[in-house]
Amino acid sequence: MPVTEPAGYSYGPESLPEPGSGPWTMWRYRRLLPLGDGPIRYALPVGGTPLLGPAGLRARLGLPRLWLKDETWGPSASNKDRATALVIEAGLRAGAKTITTSSTGNAALATAIGAAAAALRAVIFVPIGCGAAKVELMRVFGADVVRVREGYRAAFDLSREAVARFGWLDRNTGVNPLTLEGKKTVAFEIWEQLGAAPEVVLVPVGDGPTLVGLAIGFRELAACGVIPAPPRLIGVQAAGCCPLVHAWSGRGGPPPPVLGTIADGIDVPEPSIGERAVAEVRAGGGAFVAVTDDEMVTAMGELASFAGIGAEAAGAAATAGLRVALAQGLVDPAETAVALVTGRELSASEGIAPPGRLLTVNADAPGLWAELAALGEARAVAR
Ligand SMILES: *Cc1c(COP(=O)(O)O)cnc(C)c1O
Repeated sequence: MPVTEPAGYSYGPESLPEPGSGPWTMWRYRRLLPLGDGPIRYALPVGGTPLLGPAGLRARLGLPRLWLKDETWGPSASNKDRATALVIEAGLRAGAKTITTSSTGNAALATAIGAAAAALRAVIFVPIGCGAAKVELMRVFGADVVRVREGYRAAFDLSREAVARFGWLDRNTGVNPLTLEGKKTVAFEIWEQLGAAPEVVLVPVGDGPTLVGLAIGFRELAACGVIPAPPRLIGVQAAGCCPLVHAWSGRGGPPPPVLGTIADGIDVPEPSIGERAVAEVRAGGGAFVAVTDDEMVTAMGELASFAGIGAEAAGAAATAGLRVALAQGLVDPAETAVALVTGRELSASEGIAPPGRLLTVNADAPGLWAELAALGEARAVAR
């Protein structure tokens, strides 16, 4: 008997694809995505990433039933591709011409790459401290980048204001619910690839959507009647920036000081949907753990030499978290465990002249909106 949940989907085994049918991309789950009918216009292949059982890493960690969900296979080599693809697909159907986001890294890059493939203009707001190489890469993919002197919060506010003012497509993570809907497809793939739900999944947590999306996906699989219950989720944060480890511990008092981390993908002192991530972990009987930068560097090396996977620091955090979780008795060595590998760093080819423009602004500059509009008109002429 299908049950209809608030999202408006009808849940039952028939809501999922026939095993082995259709293309191996995230669109195979479109009956559980808010898209309706019609051909998919998004041009890049997204989803359908490998689930690997690396013998070397299994032996090294003493986890014979370990699997790695390798999200480094998308167009921008991080798990930000799925959210970007769904936001852009829905935007193309609604006639969007420009997409915006604020981000310090992978979400911005995924947006720049997805927009390039979809012939959308991308305007990305970054804090002034965002690395020059990353900004350059966004511009190589054609995005206009606005550096905001007041920092990340001001960049976020400006991006939202641009949405309100110009009607641009909003890819701000945790604000647009489609970012969660896109990311839930990871759970569907893990289930399809294993032929069952794992017992535990380790997930790096920055703003929270990756973990919350997984929780939604596994809950929907249970609602469809194809798994008995969702797996436990273990959220992994960097020791130098772990507000949710603190919140989960329930110790109260001020969170530990933010010392920073090399894992920029999870270096988020104020997670946009952190409370929800903690609630999801609690509801499923999971946990949060912290890993040090050294532990992530070790995991990067182990992923490389024992699994053949290149990962950035945040991308290796869940693998690093496995050891901590084993030591704390949060994972049993006999369990089927999945660790998400979430990202690999890209670099620009030398010598490409970036087509995207760069503006450096104060958040309250009076001419900002006129300047942005003019930039858009100039690009339209140049095309
Ligand atoms: C964004 C990101 C994460 C964390 O995802 P959230 O959804 O923000 O919690 C982990 N790893 C990498 C590589 C990322 O880019």
